[in-house]
Amino acid sequence: MSRSTVLPPLVAQDAATGGGPRGCGDLSLRIERGPREVFCGLTGIVWLHRKMQDAFFLVVGSRTCAHLIQSAAGVMIFAEPRFATAIIDERDLAGIADAHAELDRVVTQLLTRRPEIRTLFLVGSCPSEVIKLDLSRAAARLSHQFMPSVRVLSYSGSGIETTFTQGEDACLAALVPTAPMPETVDTEPELLVVGALADIVEDQFRRLLKDMGLERVQFLPARRAIDLPRLGPQTRYVLAQPFLTDTARALDNRGAQRIPAPMPLGAEGTTGWFEAIARTFSIAPERVQAVLAAPRARAQAALARHRESLQGKRVFFFPDSQLEVPLARLLAQELGMVLTEVGTPYLHREHLAADLAALPAGTTLVEGQHVDQQLDRCRAAAPDLVVCGLGLANPLEAEGYTTKWAIELVFSPIHGYEQAGDLAELFARPLRRRQLLAA
Ligand code: SF4
Repeated sequence: MSRSTVLPPLVAQDAATGGGPRGCGDLSLRIERGPREVFCGLTGIVWLHRKMQDAFFLVVGSRTCAHLIQSAAGVMIFAEPRFATAIIDERDLAGIADAHAELDRVVTQLLTRRPEIRTLFLVGSCPSEVIKLDLSRAAARLSHQFMPSVRVLSYSGSGIETTFTQGEDACLAALVPTAPMPETVDTEPELLVVGALADIVEDQFRRLLKDMGLERVQFLPARRAIDLPRLGPQTRYVLAQPFLTDTARALDNRGAQRIPAPMPLGAEGTTGWFEAIARTFSIAPERVQAVLAAPRARAQAALARHRESLQGKRVFFFPDSQLEVPLARLLAQELGMVLTEVGTPYLHREHLAADLAALPAGTTLVEGQHVDQQLDRCRAAAPDLVVCGLGLANPLEAEGYTTKWAIELVFSPIHGYEQAGDLAELFARPLRRRQLLAA
């Protein structure tokens, strides 16, 4: 049984249209459109290829895409890589048939050389030559050709359509329609945890859920992309990442029901997340309390060690990963930091309802970005710590600001109780470094 959480009222103001505030309430929301400074969805390949060990990501793109993928992920390759770029050079419409033939040739070569690949993702990008190619048709054609040993799927990681973490959303949304239906219609409800999690976090969550009495737990994505969960009306899914709008919609279309919950970050977010699951599966509160008490206390103790250095420090978020709202909730509620502005590329009010409700009254939220205006506001606010993308971090550091790269928060295991201290450390470390430099 799912519970709904009351959304905090927001004041919305559209900066692009100059519209006045809409609604009223505890949080103020500014909607901003203009120049952006954020990675494209190709970046998601960096963590998705590590999670799904039998999958391969073939970016259909330009040399720019190849450079991005290599520089973002190249240093992390220890074995044969599980991603590559098929370069599609400039060609006119008449050359599109050749491009399809070339793609078929590259895929055939790849699958012959790498027979361990079970799922191949064709990942679209920005160049107009790629947009002209119908990648979903190409994926269907190639899937048919290599059936049943390889499943070929497609999604877009283009910077025109996606920012940073939306690549994961598009990838998981592409997987959902291919998942099997349950064998019978009246099966017991079962839990699906949605969002790529580090294996260590997945193991911890599975163990705690088992101790609470939940054995039928599936993860999307699984460690092997081929192991797709059964999806249907019996599925109760809980998001572990806040940026999975399309994936949630695809799951809803399969009849699955979302469990409203805060994101599992820090001691309180993680507790709220487990409690929401427990309510859905009617697990006795005493049992939940007994299972969660010890890890929750460990997380609280780990956070307390950082609270001293972070309390009262002012933090400013530029929009980047869509993790900004749950991170801001953690920093304010559990570490005593002061939120000067919380920018996010896209604000899903329903999925983030619990985290929004726990933000301090008066918090300024900004959805979208006009990077110049936001830089002006950041300078005027003079925060102690700025959370931003790589492109902004260096210039801001040069101006004397202390920054935290948002991308590190996506690459690192930060979810759950045992990671709470490490997550706080990610914010405390740059402040400590700045202090040392100033001494
Ligand atoms: Fe490729 Fe477009 Fe991303 Fe640039 S923004 S790397 S062209 S997908």
